[in-house]
Amino acid sequence: MKIGSVKFFKVVILSAIALMIIIPLVLSIVFGVRSVTLSRGINELAQEQNRMQAMLTTQESLLRLTSGERLSQPIADNIQDTYANSSSAPSFEYQTLYANLYSEIPSIKKTDDRVAYLTFDDGPSANTLRVLEILDKYKIKATFFVTGPSSEAHPDYLKAIIDAGHTIGVHSYSHKYDAIYASVDAYLADFEKMHTFIYKTTGVFPEIFRFPGGSVNSYNSYLYEEIISEMTRRGFPYYDWNVSSGDVSLGITRQDIIANVLKGSEKQNRSIILMHDRLDTENTVSALPDIIEGLQAQGYTFAPITSDVRPVTFNYRK
Ligand code: ZN
Repeated sequence: MKIGSVKFFKVVILSAIALMIIIPLVLSIVFGVRSVTLSRGINELAQEQNRMQAMLTTQESLLRLTSGERLSQPIADNIQDTYANSSSAPSFEYQTLYANLYSEIPSIKKTDDRVAYLTFDDGPSANTLRVLEILDKYKIKATFFVTGPSSEAHPDYLKAIIDAGHTIGVHSYSHKYDAIYASVDAYLADFEKMHTFIYKTTGVFPEIFRFPGGSVNSYNSYLYEEIISEMTRRGFPYYDWNVSSGDVSLGITRQDIIANVLKGSEKQNRSIILMHDRLDTENTVSALPDIIEGLQAQGYTFAPITSDVRPVTFNYRK
């Protein structure tokens, strides 16, 4: 084939036409594949964003709760809405359990008063009636977070607490940290057992609770947020404390207990005071009159914890 011949130009023209078809075809295939890959990436990012949003919503809801505000929408519902288009929607099987274990979500009462909330954990005990007598003498109402075996042993004391106008909250049935904090299901099972016992014995539906060891402790560090979410969804507020009497510390004296409470309450305006009602807390009973009079001298009035009292909760932001 001679350069410049008709045949030569034919080949050149045909080759040019072929290239004009092949190059755009190849390019369109390459970009087509690339665009599919990119849109997949975008989808994954959008799903990740949804997940982050769900976590943030939960976190904000929990924070609002710790500042005393109530949730208008259940936390788990928020998560499920956000997960609606996601393939990895989580399941909350335990939400379907214990259909009667719901409390009416209360509105928080605002107060500027200097109020002390005396709380007694782990009872009732052989000391309960003496505690009630002292409270009665000072015309003070307090709060008892009770446990299972001691309530089974003294159901009449639960009634005496209610009859005297005090509040009973759920503490725990077994009070065995490793068992109740093994899972959300385990926590709910224990809570329900105690709740039912109190309700059956006194006829009063307990609306408040206190976590054994406080809401955040070394046994529940990996799931306390999930337990709190679930209990919040069910309408139960929990109460930690901001003043500790230290009354179950080894070798503590009556004077130490009084000093711990009065020193702790000085800097507070609302004091939720942790004490115990157990066989080994004789010192608490004998310290109680001085604690009450000392708090009165600091300008405190006393009230029982009801579900409309703004909770004191431990700060668990990481
Ligand atoms: Zn306890």
